[in-house]
Amino acid sequence: MKVSLPGVILGTLCCLPGGIIRTAAQPANQLTPVPIQSVTIQDAFWSPKRTVWQEITIPDCFTKFENDRGGAFNNFDRVRDGKSDGHAGPPWYDGLIYEMIRGSADFLAAKPDPVLETRIDGYIARITAAQARDTNGYLNTWTQLQHPDQRWGLNGGNDGYQHEMYNVGALCEAAVHYYQATGKSGLLKVAVRLANCTCDQVGPAPRLELVPNHAIAEEAFGDLYLFFREHPELKRDMPVAIDESRYLRLAQYWVEARGHPRKDQPSYGAYNQDHEPVLEQKTIEGHAVRAALLCAGVTALAGINGRDDYREAATCLWENMSQKKMYVTGGIGATAAGEAFGKDYFLPNDGYLETCGAVAAGFFDRNLNLLTGDARFVDALERELYNGALAGVSLAGNSYSYVNPLQAPHGNSRWSWNGCPCCPPMFLKLMGAMPGYIYAQDKSGIYVNLFVASKAQMQIAGHKVVLSQATDYPWQGEVKITVEAAKAGEFDLHIRIPGWCEGASSPEDLYQPDNRPLEGAARLKVNGKAVVNPAIVRGYATLHRRWKSGDVVQLTLDMPVQRVRANARVEAAKGRVALMRGPIVYCFEGADNGGAVQNLVIPPETRFTPKAQRNLLGGVTILEAAAIGVFKTGANYLVSMPFRVTATPYYANANRGTCPMQVWMAEQQDGASPQSQE
Ligand SMILES: [Zn+2]
Repeated sequence: MKVSLPGVILGTLCCLPGGIIRTAAQPANQLTPVPIQSVTIQDAFWSPKRTVWQEITIPDCFTKFENDRGGAFNNFDRVRDGKSDGHAGPPWYDGLIYEMIRGSADFLAAKPDPVLETRIDGYIARITAAQARDTNGYLNTWTQLQHPDQRWGLNGGNDGYQHEMYNVGALCEAAVHYYQATGKSGLLKVAVRLANCTCDQVGPAPRLELVPNHAIAEEAFGDLYLFFREHPELKRDMPVAIDESRYLRLAQYWVEARGHPRKDQPSYGAYNQDHEPVLEQKTIEGHAVRAALLCAGVTALAGINGRDDYREAATCLWENMSQKKMYVTGGIGATAAGEAFGKDYFLPNDGYLETCGAVAAGFFDRNLNLLTGDARFVDALERELYNGALAGVSLAGNSYSYVNPLQAPHGNSRWSWNGCPCCPPMFLKLMGAMPGYIYAQDKSGIYVNLFVASKAQMQIAGHKVVLSQATDYPWQGEVKITVEAAKAGEFDLHIRIPGWCEGASSPEDLYQPDNRPLEGAARLKVNGKAVVNPAIVRGYATLHRRWKSGDVVQLTLDMPVQRVRANARVEAAKGRVALMRGPIVYCFEGADNGGAVQNLVIPPETRFTPKAQRNLLGGVTILEAAAIGVFKTGANYLVSMPFRVTATPYYANANRGTCPMQVWMAEQQDGASPQSQE
């Protein structure tokens, strides 16, 4: 970790609570991402999906927002026109629109699309015109239209419902991402006016002592701080004076004021992570999306302020989440009541698992990887990308899921639109950002985090290096990485060895694959020569050499079908098994298994055969086996008989009409529910 030297002032000084003054000029993150703009994806798994999301999903969601309950964009027009009623949708609609813009911006950064960009420019013009109505730059269309005298929840308002700080956070993210994608600063000007207005009014006394009712602004304000630190030249073009340290200070206040009494704002309790000081919390509690986004923010801020208490709190909460409160798909938020985490190991198969929760956990994972340089956080991110989050949008790209349970005896169905359509924008944010998650770097070299066929350019040890990755991941475990460099150069190539492939296991692990070896399942070659016992540091195999153009690294990951069992304390998975192959979690759907799935038994000796099916569910590898089906005959006799079963990737569930689905399968007959035979 880069530590600033005592007494050497390297940059902006910020005064932190407790009287500690530290420099924030040097990032504390171990890794720096290779940004979307430097990465091109050409991947058999991701590219067709990304095309669907850019060409179908983004326009579909924008159109649905335009038509929703009188039109979410009309809210901005009504504020512009000085109206005082008629807000369409809930107060967080401004924020969802900003999230759509952020997600779309990242897709634009990867693949320019003039039609989409023009469409978004039109929206930004309407947002800008709405803000012009207020001399201070305040903008929250619900409050302005419905309760103009109750800004920030004052005068009998309800800041918990008004979502002002949530909306400003989402706006700042959108503005930064849209600038990075297009070089256009229009939305940035709106964002800084509202961010400055927020800093003027919210914060420690004598300002309003308010924390957001829903996390997002913590990381967003940290990012806005970083953005202006990296782009000081842009400050001149902004309509208000920029002192970026104010954004960082407010973000830290929002973390540190939780769990403490505040002047007028009552405690939100555990629901909004306000039950005790965040940096002292040991278990992740309350609303799962809020909690994971807050933790993502704490982690991002630790990467800026370098504080041990931030890093330790984030790591501790992540351990609790991933080792005691996470589903095998990466889903979080077991209970519908409060959309919340349950107690440790409470993971019912009909749990809630909001798509936004899996996405938020993915952001948390990713920030921890940057902070610590540890690959286990990418293992967790990968679980979200291929399972929990990916399940949130249909293969056709125009229907969605809010909840993602691990069993649906009567079938899951996706909606075309929802009264609270928060999940599609969050999904687009994660998948839009994904190209920037594949590679990272530090002074010593390059990190290959995700296995995605792609090309990336970066500067390392003073010269340009291009890495090309070819792979059929996640269906095959072969990855070929080719180095192109104008000049040979000495650096490390750190390649993630996925946790699903090999590694030590402990009886405490939440999920335990039954045939994962300690080592030997991941093998590396450089220019055709096997690398014997490569050093594995924090989950990365490190190859150090003088690299030259044409050098080829081959990684082979064994990819057997793995039977996964849950920790014995997970009641809902007792006597049950889930299947994984590589990073993919499988489920059983009625469509492939004679209409029902609860009657299937997968005894321990069952051997599954993977089979590539190019024309099924957008191209998947299915798993087939001879197992057992349990049936009830007309005379109420139970019959168990050999039954051919097929498992398909969980992410593709609920794409063939409504049919029963299940992830955790009975291993013995008494765990199955017999299917009546007519
Ligand atoms: Zn959601």
